[in-house]
Amino acid sequence: MGWTSMSIVANAIFTAVALQAIVRVSSTEPLKHGFDEDDGVRALKQGDEHAHEVHCSRERSRAAWKIIEEYLMPFVEREKYEISRSCRLHPDSDLFRDQEQHKIHVDFSEWRCGYCKKSFISEKYLDQHFDSRHYNLLNFSQGKCLADLCGALHCDHVINSKSLGSRCNPAAAARNHHLCENLADSCFPIKQGPSASRLHELFLHQFCDAHSCSREAKPFSRGRMKQPSVLYWALSVLTLMLLPLFYIIVYLHQSEIRKDTQELKRIPRLGKKIKPS
Ligand SMILES: [Zn+2]
Repeated sequence: MGWTSMSIVANAIFTAVALQAIVRVSSTEPLKHGFDEDDGVRALKQGDEHAHEVHCSRERSRAAWKIIEEYLMPFVEREKYEISRSCRLHPDSDLFRDQEQHKIHVDFSEWRCGYCKKSFISEKYLDQHFDSRHYNLLNFSQGKCLADLCGALHCDHVINSKSLGSRCNPAAAARNHHLCENLADSCFPIKQGPSASRLHELFLHQFCDAHSCSREAKPFSRGRMKQPSVLYWALSVLTLMLLPLFYIIVYLHQSEIRKDTQELKRIPRLGKKIKPS
């Protein structure tokens, strides 16, 4: 009786472990391959990177957003200026903004979908997953593509710095300069006030001046203003908390040393006094 019940329990445990292993394998499958069967079928059907006929590059849109975030937004925030929705630099103009915000970078080799929590080994596979599974979440309301601003915003400078040595095309430079100035005019209209005109000027220096073959002007001449990260704040708070503790320890140590030397000074004096008598 005891043996049979034990064997039943053992059987149940074995089955549970086996089942768990199967579940684990199937759940890590997307991690291994990056995309599931349907995605693979889609890739075959489409045969190109522009799935569902979205004629807007995700990679270039991402580069454009990164540039806006690093080289423009800190200045805009410092001026407490609000970019209007009609400006093409507004987050609403980015088709992929919502999806990009739903990327969870767990660690070096794990990216998770913020909508359905599926995991992938690289950002590329997560992008493919977004293209096939969360296509309905793309923001088509504005009908704009942020990647279209790449010429003005110097995306190539960020994507591949190697190609920068290529010869300058005067026509392309003029076209980009024109696009760049249009952005400055529509996003930061001078008549809107002092902060808008300051940002207008900054935008021209930061992005537009470099669209020229004659001069050696480099993009982002005004530099970047990096937002302090969470780690930075955590370290700062920790330092502020530990600093008084450090001083207390040093103070106690010093006073201990002082006490010891006083004791040491006193002992030989006593010894000297005792000897002659
Ligand atoms: Zn998902």
